[in-house]
Formats: sequence, C-alpha cells, structure tokens
Amino acid sequence: MSDVLMPGLYIVATPIGNLGDLSPRAAEVLANAALVAVEDTRVTAGLFRHIGTKRPMIAYHDHNADRVRPGLVERMGREAVALVSDAGTPLISDPGYKLVRDARAAGHLVVTIPGPCAAIAALTLAGLPTDRFLFLGFLPAKAGAKAEAIAEVASVRATLVLYESGPRLAATLSALAKELGDREAAVTREITKKFEEAVTGTLTVLADRYADSPPRGEIVVVVAPPGEAPPANIEDADAALAEALTRLPASKAAAEVAKKFNLDRRELYARAMELKD
Ligand code: SAM
Repeated sequence: MSDVLMPGLYIVATPIGNLGDLSPRAAEVLANAALVAVEDTRVTAGLFRHIGTKRPMIAYHDHNADRVRPGLVERMGREAVALVSDAGTPLISDPGYKLVRDARAAGHLVVTIPGPCAAIAALTLAGLPTDRFLFLGFLPAKAGAKAEAIAEVASVRATLVLYESGPRLAATLSALAKELGDREAAVTREITKKFEEAVTGTLTVLADRYADSPPRGEIVVVVAPPGEAPPANIEDADAALAEALTRLPASKAAAEVAKKFNLDRRELYARAMELKD
C-alpha cells in the first residue's frame, strides 16, 4: 500500500496540451498510485516521462471497460487506483462514470484531482456569457441526428459548448445556424498549445470561413444563448387567435396562440371568449 495515498479511486485531470498545466497534486497522486487506469498506455507513458517516474498502467477504454471494471473496483479496496484520460478531465466526454458509480457502490473512497478541461477553458476564451452553460459533448455525426440534437436545445437559455473535429466543423456550424438562428459564437482551437486561438463571429460567418479550409487540431465550439424574444405584438396575437378560432375550440385556440407568442393561456382563453361573442 502507498504510504501517501489511502486505498480508493483517484480521478486525475491531466494537461490538454501544455504539460506545465499538470498540477503538483496530480503529479503526486500519479507518482504514488499503485495502478493507473489509462485510455492509451503510450500517451500516459509520455506524462510519466514528464513527471520522471513510472507506475503500472492498465488500459481502460470504451472497448474493454465492462470487462476490466470489476477487477479495478476490487483493487481499489486495498490500493490507490488512479484514473486518467489521454488529456483533460476524465469522465468529460471520456470514460469513467461507471467506475466512479461502482467504486461508490462498493463503499470505496473516491477523490477528485481537478484540473484542465477543454470545455471550461474554451468558455474562458470565448467572451460569451458564462453564468449558465450547457455542455453538449460531441454532436452526432449524421446530419439528421445532428439537426435533431441541436433543435432539442434551441430554446435553452444558456451558452452552448460542444466538442468538434476540424473536418466536421463547417457542417456543424451551418447546422447550428440553421437550427438556432445566426447567433454569436466562438471557435476555440488548440487551447494551451502553441497555436491556441479563439475566432469569434456569427455562426454563418464562421461556417463560411471554415467551409473550404477545415482547421487542424482540437476544437471546442461555444455558441451564445438565444437573444431576448421580441415582445409579442397584441394585434398579431389577436389575429392569430381569430384565425385559430375558425378551426379550433376556444381552449385549444388559446393554447396554440399562447405557445406561439409566449403569452398566458388563460388570458388568451378569456380574449377568445370575447372574440366569439
Ligand atoms: N476529457 C477531455 C476534457 O476534459 O476536455 C475531453 C476529451 S474529448 C475525447 C476530446 C475533445 O476535447 C477534442 O476532440 C476537442 O474537441 C476537445 N479538446 C481537447 N483538448 C483540446 C484543446 N487543447 N483545444 C481545444 N479542444 C480540445
């Protein structure tokens, strides 16, 4: 057993491009863990070279997780087991939540060593509201499923954050513009690396920019929340209500117009009764 670490599971965030971002605490935990669960042993071997140590590693990724997990949970009852991703914070668009769930269920200690996360770093670069944000991870690759996933969050009053690859960026920006309207956005790229950048503009301007020149490197897209809905025009609502009453009973007409104009359904019902008289 390690002298430094109690038995349990240690979730360790690692750099997303700049090794200087490895925290002293993360380095200490990695150097003292009995076993480190990693996505790719070659990637984490590089991190160990940086720390100047070597620890036993075991691959833990989407393809073997169900098979490997019970053995890991058993070991963390008597030893310190660390979990890392290739880069960034484990569990964030990376494997790990089932390991945490099972570790807890077995009554083991679970400790987090927070640090770099591309989604959070992108928010700090984008210059868009950060008081409420929704992390979407990777959108589906196929156009139909992608449009559906975007439409699902179109009315959410929060900044949207999503991971994307260079070759898919332009198509995703166009799909976002189509489903959300032409909101302000930022394409953040190669965060913490030599060519870190944040390119800002509306979704259509950004889609045009990248249409013929897919950028290299790793990308996070940040999209502004929807603007304030324009105040409902009462004459338009009245006209819509009158039209709806030609097709629907008053309660249904009121509900339809209330939804369309974001108005109070009961008030519209009362107005519908007036119009009928
Ligand atoms: N768990 C990681 C984290 O905490 O950010 C994310 C893992 S996810 C599999 C990898 C994606 O994160 C990349 O495809 C990219 O969208 C984003 N990403 C990771 N590193 C990045 C960087 N340095 N700059 C921009 N985006 C990055």
